[in-house]
Amino acid sequence: MHTTRLPLPAPAPGHQRFLTVHEFGQGEHKAYLQAGLHADEWPGLLTIQVLLEKLQRLEAAGQITQRIVIVPYANPVGLNQRLFGKFPGRFDATTGRNFNRGMAIDSDDLIDRLSSQLGSDAAANDRMVRTGLRQLVDEKNADYEIDALHKALLSQSLDATVVLDLHCDDAALPHVFYGDHQTDIGAQLADCLGFPVRLEEDVRGTVAFDGSHTQPWVRVADVLNAPLDRPCFAATVELRGRQDVNENFAQRDAEGLLAFLEKQGFVRNSGAQSQASEMGLPPTTLNVDQVKVVSSNSNGLVVYRRELGEHIRQGDHLADVVQLDGEGPQREAVYAPTDGLLFGRTQSYIVYPGTQLAMIATQERQIKPGTQLTN
Ligand SMILES: [Zn+2]
Repeated sequence: MHTTRLPLPAPAPGHQRFLTVHEFGQGEHKAYLQAGLHADEWPGLLTIQVLLEKLQRLEAAGQITQRIVIVPYANPVGLNQRLFGKFPGRFDATTGRNFNRGMAIDSDDLIDRLSSQLGSDAAANDRMVRTGLRQLVDEKNADYEIDALHKALLSQSLDATVVLDLHCDDAALPHVFYGDHQTDIGAQLADCLGFPVRLEEDVRGTVAFDGSHTQPWVRVADVLNAPLDRPCFAATVELRGRQDVNENFAQRDAEGLLAFLEKQGFVRNSGAQSQASEMGLPPTTLNVDQVKVVSSNSNGLVVYRRELGEHIRQGDHLADVVQLDGEGPQREAVYAPTDGLLFGRTQSYIVYPGTQLAMIATQERQIKPGTQLTN
């Protein structure tokens, strides 16, 4: 394992920060994994440490067959946010921007550069795409600290063949997001991890870190009509909820990730097994547009009547919002607006109008396509 510390431009006198980058192996293909881009999401930080131990053992045994790059904490800027004893970490304090948005390169720039270069050799085309991506990262403007952070991360990741960005939700079943143009690899990843909920999305619109890696390949394929050999696969891996930091989950998830890296040709003879489906649930695959978010209509204290992993029928009594400022004890019942699998809840029990109370995986479109990443 080779470790480097990548300095970030100091945002203020005396505030130099850096990214730690661990690297294994050699080869044309790179797998890139990071955790904690949302600095308040910690399960992945532990999973990565367990994975590093496993990779070190494989390296000592000569069983790493391509490059693997690991950024164990992707957001030193957010890790330094503390406010009155709480830990925000999701939004940049200077610009208000979500740390997991707004880093995509302009695919039209890439297409302009490649339009006269790509030919009939798919592997050669891949190399030209990756060279173009590296150039665009080098040229990327980075005025604010968040932009410098994004640029530093992309300098390690944008030319990768596999990108896994580890996050978590508030309280949730484990789930994964990936492009709807790569459903086979996405299902392979979810099967290795034993994650029941698989969310597919069109990466041509607003994208997060994962989609920033796949969008250029999709756009190049759409516009230039040239053969590509192995376009980047990227996924956001949601490791349950914020409180789910423990050794059992970290061991299980690191082994699932390693099993996937082996199937993708980055390691061999790892002995890592695909994990049994969490809670014994069968796979549920849907488009992100088919997630029904149930929001609160009032303020008060939410009390749930249904648990994560339960199948809900329309009209089921999902929760109560206990209202604290009425004439006497008073509750507003929240009923399920649709059938589906309850896979996300809030852990912040004082709620307001608009607070997300539940996420339900359904079979119908619930929102306008391409709008799920607007905040
Ligand atoms: Zn996140």
